[in-house]
Amino acid sequence: MKNAWRCGAGLTLFAAASMACAEFPEKPVTLVVPFAAGGPSDKIARDLAEALRKPLGQTVIVDNAAGAGGTIGSAKVARAAPDGYTLLVHHIGMATAPALYRKLSYKVPDDFETLGLINEAPSVLIGKPSLEARNFGELRQWIASNGGKANLAHAGLGSASHLCGLMFQSALKTNMTPVPYKGTAPAMTDLIGGQVDLMCEQATNAVPQIEGKKVKVYGVTSLKRLPLPSLKDTATLSESGLKDFDVQVWHGLYAPKGTPPAVLAKLNSALRVALKDPELIKREEALGLTVVNDERLEPAGHRKFIEAEKTRWSKVIKDAGEYAD
Ligand code: ASP
Repeated sequence: MKNAWRCGAGLTLFAAASMACAEFPEKPVTLVVPFAAGGPSDKIARDLAEALRKPLGQTVIVDNAAGAGGTIGSAKVARAAPDGYTLLVHHIGMATAPALYRKLSYKVPDDFETLGLINEAPSVLIGKPSLEARNFGELRQWIASNGGKANLAHAGLGSASHLCGLMFQSALKTNMTPVPYKGTAPAMTDLIGGQVDLMCEQATNAVPQIEGKKVKVYGVTSLKRLPLPSLKDTATLSESGLKDFDVQVWHGLYAPKGTPPAVLAKLNSALRVALKDPELIKREEALGLTVVNDERLEPAGHRKFIEAEKTRWSKVIKDAGEYAD
């Protein structure tokens, strides 16, 4: 039930808010992840859940509500009771869904409280192990000679892998066949098995597969090379001829609109503590992630950033002529 939070009847609003703060959290907090278990969003949320446990003094549970490029899980949180117990960990899809989905059931950012940005995540272009192309130049030739037959897996419209794939096709001036999944975890299984050809994937999920030689890597999608042992010699797509190609993913934490300010303040301060946790930083850095430590960790800075990203991506999406009902 919206606006249902435990406070004694007849209290002033101020007293009620302080009381909610004093009590919060008195039961486990749930982080909704709008993608399949085992993928990059899931991994980030599980690491964050672990790091939030101490500052919140409560268990933090991860709930995967996957599908429709992250919009099913986002809608679930937009409709949840605004009491701080149901939060959303979501990425760039938060800013792209309004331009992509004609019938989106929630407003961005108005139906959410921004709690702070978590991290920035680079992606890489990876291919199935049986691809003969040894480098990006050979891959480019193979794609050109295959016309629209080469396919590209993604995690649903508006997902990071989908956006990166759109930019990739537009940079190559070619069309490839998109293959949607509920997350890049199931897509990765098919890529390793050779059922799909290529995928843009966040380093979070790609690095272990690259290290295990289960997939081929063709380029870094952001402007800088990644200082990870398995990727330090991998050129960026921009260096390889797709000038200025730059797709960088980010993740943030959200609560439903109307969550009491005192609860939001407690969640934001727990997020700040969690993002300073040396264990979390070590795990994130090993996967190429950069923990956010600037004004976007403030709710207002996070909101401003979402608005700017929404404007930026809506242009890219309109130019690409993509949308879903
Ligand atoms: N975040 C998605 C996942 O965790 C991947 C994507 O957006 O491409 O599966």
